[in-house]
Amino acid sequence: MKDKQTGFMTIKRSNFKTRAVEERIKDYNNVYIQLSLDEMRNQANRCMDCGTSFCNWGCPLGNLIPDWNDFVFNGDWKKAYERLTLTSNFPEFTGRVCPALCEAACVLGINREGVSIREIEQMIIDTAFNNGWVQPRIPKVRTGKKVAVIGSGPSGLATADDLNYSGHLVTIFEREDKAGGLLRYGIPNYKLEKEILDRRIELMVEAGIEFKLNIEVGKDVHFNDLIEEFDSVVLCCGASVPRKLKIPGEKLDGVYFAVDYLKQQTKKIFNSKYNMPDIDAKNKKVLVIGGGDTGADCVGTANRQGAEVVYQYEIMPKPAIERTENMPWPEYPKLLKTTTAHEEGCIREWEIMTKELIGDGKKLKSAKVSKVKWIMDEGKYKLEEIEKSEFIQEVDMVLVAVGFMHTEHDKFVKSMNIALDSKGNILTDENFMTNIKGVFSAGDMRTGQSLVVKAIKDGKSVATCIDNYLMH
Ligand SMILES: Cc1cc2nc3c(=O)[nH]c(=O)nc-3n(C[C@H](O)[C@H](O)[C@H](O)COP(=O)(O)OP(=O)(O)OC[C@H]3O[C@@H](n4cnc5c(N)ncnc54)[C@H](O)[C@@H]3O)c2cc1C
Ligand code: SF4
Repeated sequence: MKDKQTGFMTIKRSNFKTRAVEERIKDYNNVYIQLSLDEMRNQANRCMDCGTSFCNWGCPLGNLIPDWNDFVFNGDWKKAYERLTLTSNFPEFTGRVCPALCEAACVLGINREGVSIREIEQMIIDTAFNNGWVQPRIPKVRTGKKVAVIGSGPSGLATADDLNYSGHLVTIFEREDKAGGLLRYGIPNYKLEKEILDRRIELMVEAGIEFKLNIEVGKDVHFNDLIEEFDSVVLCCGASVPRKLKIPGEKLDGVYFAVDYLKQQTKKIFNSKYNMPDIDAKNKKVLVIGGGDTGADCVGTANRQGAEVVYQYEIMPKPAIERTENMPWPEYPKLLKTTTAHEEGCIREWEIMTKELIGDGKKLKSAKVSKVKWIMDEGKYKLEEIEKSEFIQEVDMVLVAVGFMHTEHDKFVKSMNIALDSKGNILTDENFMTNIKGVFSAGDMRTGQSLVVKAIKDGKSVATCIDNYLMH
């Protein structure tokens, strides 16, 4: 173990290893191999314990990163766990899927690689689980107040966890067969193994939270009944209306939305029922439209299903490899991301516009695409098609991963006249309350499509506001 004062100069950043591509694409298990506890202590030694810790500012949860790095460096994993859970309910999720906004803000990042904070976080919480330190968060007293949370994604889970710990009786209503939202039926198992989710949900049940699964509010339960039965209702339904391509042929057989595809694959792994036709990429030429993380999840899944070839086309320009003047430290930079899914095989192209999907009858057979460039015009980027660049790409399957519009309005939002913002998200006041007294909202449903860490933070914030509302 090196000296903490100079560790950042003498120790190189190292990261978790990955399983060999040939091995991992045959299954849906975790792709990463963790480092040993000693190697992780060495990595924590790189933390400079800065006076002004920008990592803490970069993390939406305000995680006390230098503190827990110090405990890890000293081998006190239990204290590190206690410090980590002062601010974070579910570090086992963020330690696996967070894009590590903190690492981009790490002061070391100014002229060398930042500390591997996310992986240290994962090791702390996994060590805590392995040692039996993680116990149900049972409240000391019950207040007698009842709260209904609609939706069990990270925002709903965080809301429920904090409200339950404050003594309120919490019931979560979830329309899927299992809890977790996109942690369950969006993010693939190879990135977040669902046992990690089950383990946490079991603890929440032991702590007194009730999960009512397979119940869709607005269909199986009337929203007004919840208002009557509960002292407060929290809307955490996510932002699941997918953005459409709005091009000819998007309704052909063989064209699917990314989340439908990813959800089905996770259901297949766990032998859960699904009410949609089978979507299988085996021996198919697959085109993923959209160059973001959801697209990358489709690439990884299609390769595991045995696709013949996978293309990923993005309309925006290829991101820079390093920070540019427009992306100064400590802001989170939009850089080129090569995920484990890309390493498994994918033809990636940028500045490609898909103009039409062409069928043989109802069956998809190709995509008409062309190259584009982005021209600066009066301070705004404008898309311009490159002349004679059009070509036909033979494909049997298209996965649409071009983002999400907003939350669903047709279940209860419209009929209850719940106010929306200009983007179609739920409008709340500074206390996260909607236009209906006692009805609150958090997560993607309120903010629009976001990140797990931000949804958890939103859930924690709404829980504080609801506690104030119920107790004052
Ligand atoms: C494919 C994919 C991969 C992603 N990967 C990452 C990643 O790696 N890292 C990251 O930080 N973020 C990632 N994200 C974003 C992240 O998952 C979301 O920002 C986050 O899950 C939002 O949490 P939420 O609780 O607001 O909503 P959700 O997770 O969407 O959960 C909403 C829940 O509400 C339920 N629900 C909706 N309507 C009703 C109703 N009427 N009655 C009952 N239940 C209802 C839904 O079934 C769902 O379970 C990803 C998103 C997608 C789509
Ligand atoms: S939650 Fe994300 S941003 Fe916060 S410390 Fe963990 S990895 Fe970093």
